[in-house]
Amino acid sequence: MRIGIAKEIGPNERRVAVTPDSVRQIKAAGHDVAVEAGAGRGAFLEDAAYQEAGATIVPGPADLWSASDAVLKIQPPLPSAALGKHEADLLREGATLICMLRPLSNLDVVKILVRRRVTSFSMDMMPRSTRAQRMDALSSMSTVAGYKAVLLAADTLPRFFPMFVTAAGTIAPSRVLVVGAGVAGLQAIATARRLGAVVEAYDVRPAVKEEVESLGATFVGPQLSAAEAQDEQGYARPLTAEQQKKGTEMLHERTAYADVVITTARVPGLPAPKLLPTNVVERMKPGSVIVDLAADMGGNCELTQAGSTVVHHDVTIHGPVRLASTIPVHATQMYSRNITAFLLHLTKDGSIQFDSSDEITTATCVTREGAIVHPGTKARIEGAATAAAG
Ligand code: NAD
Repeated sequence: MRIGIAKEIGPNERRVAVTPDSVRQIKAAGHDVAVEAGAGRGAFLEDAAYQEAGATIVPGPADLWSASDAVLKIQPPLPSAALGKHEADLLREGATLICMLRPLSNLDVVKILVRRRVTSFSMDMMPRSTRAQRMDALSSMSTVAGYKAVLLAADTLPRFFPMFVTAAGTIAPSRVLVVGAGVAGLQAIATARRLGAVVEAYDVRPAVKEEVESLGATFVGPQLSAAEAQDEQGYARPLTAEQQKKGTEMLHERTAYADVVITTARVPGLPAPKLLPTNVVERMKPGSVIVDLAADMGGNCELTQAGSTVVHHDVTIHGPVRLASTIPVHATQMYSRNITAFLLHLTKDGSIQFDSSDEITTATCVTREGAIVHPGTKARIEGAATAAAG
């Protein structure tokens, strides 16, 4: 197979899907690799390094996309201003695409992939199982984002994070509240602790209490049972109004004590739960900082604006999107290992084989043979079509 590594064209995207080290691995498995010129530049990976690893450099996107049996990417395909075409339309009919497709938020792209009879796999739908762990790009990118969110907060906060005992007196440490203790939240807790802050964490899943405490933070959260709070995959369930109320009073009280709040709460396939209303932000201390890592899904804070920073009542609210891209070297290294492990998992005897008995294959496949095979995406597209007809 000829595997194509496309240059990312999304705004502020500095990552690339595959490093030269992973190119060697793909070559060793018997495939050819083509890399679009300059694809690794944002992550300081030069074309020459890819060539040394055995890849062919192709000058532009048209050649790369149309000549590849499988294209590996980070972002979903986008309309290319340079070519006046959608990237998905550049794919060969019957080719394979592997990226963070996020199909529920990119229905238009999914429709093009169906029309082009492209087999597409979405890295963000990887099952959270032990077998799939080394392919879990969502966890990799959440780790990067959780870490960077704390640095962003520390850089904005008009205070120190750690306690200092100085000749000018003792300075109290900052208080950080992390909302949502999943992969990003746990990394944020660990990073804030390393910087010396006093950390509290809030989550609806009681299962995270032990993990939070093992990182030296205090767990504050509602007393829900595991069955009420999480599904079989370990993700949070949407809460009833009553359950939500149990926790929000406590959350709002703890928010008033915090110098920094980092929010990461998400429920798969749904807008992020709104946990911090404006009146709660207004009760925070002047100079406090919120970093809302759920900004791309509507935000956990009512005031968040995705992709920008707002100041309200002397509280700075960051709504970063694609934060992982701001640490492009390590984010690329991690993603590259994940996507390469996945590609090699799918490949048998020199080509991609669709094994319908393999959970990793079926969970991640979005389109195949001119049809949508991911049930949630199919339902969303059919639902939208019915609503439009009605
Ligand atoms: P996520 O990004 O979906 O959500 C982040 C956090 O927000 C979660 O901890 C969730 O409980 C929390 N949350 C949701 N609604 C909330 C609300 N209303 N109030 C407060 N908090 C709320 O989560 P994730 O980081 O992707 O992790 C999801 C689960 O998958 C976790 O149990 C994690 O440990 C597990 N996981 C397992 C593996 C593996 O086994 N390979 C890998 C990664 C993650």
